[in-house]
Amino acid sequence: MLDKRSSASAQSLGQSQPQSAAAHSSMRNDAPTRQAIALISDDADPAIDTNRQEAGERNIYVRRVGEALAKVGWRVDMFTRRTDPDAPTVVQHSPHCRTIRLDAGPAALIPRDQRFDVLPEFLEDFLKYQSKEHYPLVHTSYWTAGWVGLQLKQQHNLQLVHTYHSLGVLKYQPGVARSAIADRRIDIEQQVLELADCIIATSPQEKDTLHQLMSAQGTVEIVPAGTDLDTFHTMPQTEARQRLGLSSQEPMVLYVGRFDARKGIETLVRAFAQLPDSLHKARLVIVGGDDPAQDNRQERQRIERIVRELQLGDRIDFVGQVGHERLPTYYTAADVCVIPSQYEPFGLVALEAMACGTPVVASNTGGLRFTVVPEETGLLVPPEDVAGFAKAIERVLTDQIWAQKLKSQAPARVQQNFSWTGVAVRLSDVYRRIMAQSISHEQLWCPINPAEPAVASASASAVAPDQPESSTIQTVS
Ligand code: UDP
Repeated sequence: MLDKRSSASAQSLGQSQPQSAAAHSSMRNDAPTRQAIALISDDADPAIDTNRQEAGERNIYVRRVGEALAKVGWRVDMFTRRTDPDAPTVVQHSPHCRTIRLDAGPAALIPRDQRFDVLPEFLEDFLKYQSKEHYPLVHTSYWTAGWVGLQLKQQHNLQLVHTYHSLGVLKYQPGVARSAIADRRIDIEQQVLELADCIIATSPQEKDTLHQLMSAQGTVEIVPAGTDLDTFHTMPQTEARQRLGLSSQEPMVLYVGRFDARKGIETLVRAFAQLPDSLHKARLVIVGGDDPAQDNRQERQRIERIVRELQLGDRIDFVGQVGHERLPTYYTAADVCVIPSQYEPFGLVALEAMACGTPVVASNTGGLRFTVVPEETGLLVPPEDVAGFAKAIERVLTDQIWAQKLKSQAPARVQQNFSWTGVAVRLSDVYRRIMAQSISHEQLWCPINPAEPAVASASASAVAPDQPESSTIQTVS
């Protein structure tokens, strides 16, 4: 049944397939030595078409990590939940990287608080692939996938790596009554920290938060998220303005992201209203769509109401969802990109803007304190500080000599520290290390019996063979 589904879907591969299915399948067969690993992101589809659908950091992160891991030598299968009956089961991103959509619950978007209930079905469907591919390592994203990872770890001999993306302990205020699903999330997130083989924190701030608010136990490695430097790079601002039909005389303030109260768009709109009269020509461009699976349409309507109350309708544009092909034009056209989040675990938008040479004014919170260097690539302001945001935006728009320095320093910081290839190399290192440790652990506690070769063969396949550090096997044996 598995083969039939895969081949049927290979004939109807999605729009992101750069080469023919036949070419891909022959390339996959040509490379039997690559180690297969699974990335699990039940709740955020890595193959989503970002031109048409609302995409967040998790969709982008999983897809870019998967593609970059394949480039550095792994065979990567990314698993997500099917939310559209017509979407192909398999999307081949590159010869060694594919998204596989599993059946769990209705093939439709379902509200967040119901997504946990379909996980047993998701796990069951995943196990069909696990029994064929024998992934020695799964890297899960977000707490629901973390639950799947915990079940796999309990039942199978595999290593579990987890990235949180966001944390229940930060989302739900202490002292405020929590729903049952919120309690469950917090409980599972703590179990994952204590039981996974390794947690990937995307910033030192996240690592501190995990140990301070959740548990002192658990192994945490810091590997930041990255950005696609082929897509996000500098280009002349006048060209970008022309493409968008914007005048070069109007200072442009940009927001990119979801409509969610925690994103702080209200703070930005109110700060924009406080800019001095000398900046009355400034425009605020708001890029981002609403998520039909959530109540974010209400947030957009709320923001639009505030814009009307402040009589800013003719100076603020709501552009809607924009795909990554066109986003660099918006970043480059802008004089400043503002990220006014109440909390931001990492904040890919900050990296994308800086990579395009756009200064960033961001909330002084979470991963933004790691990516944005105050005075060098932008400014940090306390979350929800309307006057503080107004002052910071005004400074970037009016101090042109300093802003020019930010524009050249920002892309340099991203190129040096946040490429996806760099992320993949660092993740590969973590994967190989924990797989090698598991082998040494097996050898310490379960001496290999020649009559039972299962442990030896699992061990031998547990390190990506085309990585030079495969000598770690020799070290531990
Ligand atoms: N994004 C996009 N088109 C849009 C708005 C956002 O592709 O119209 C992408 C954006 O480029 C970034 C991601 O969505 O890669 C948002 O990530 P971030 O970490 O900033 O926020 P999150 O959505 O995870 O809270």
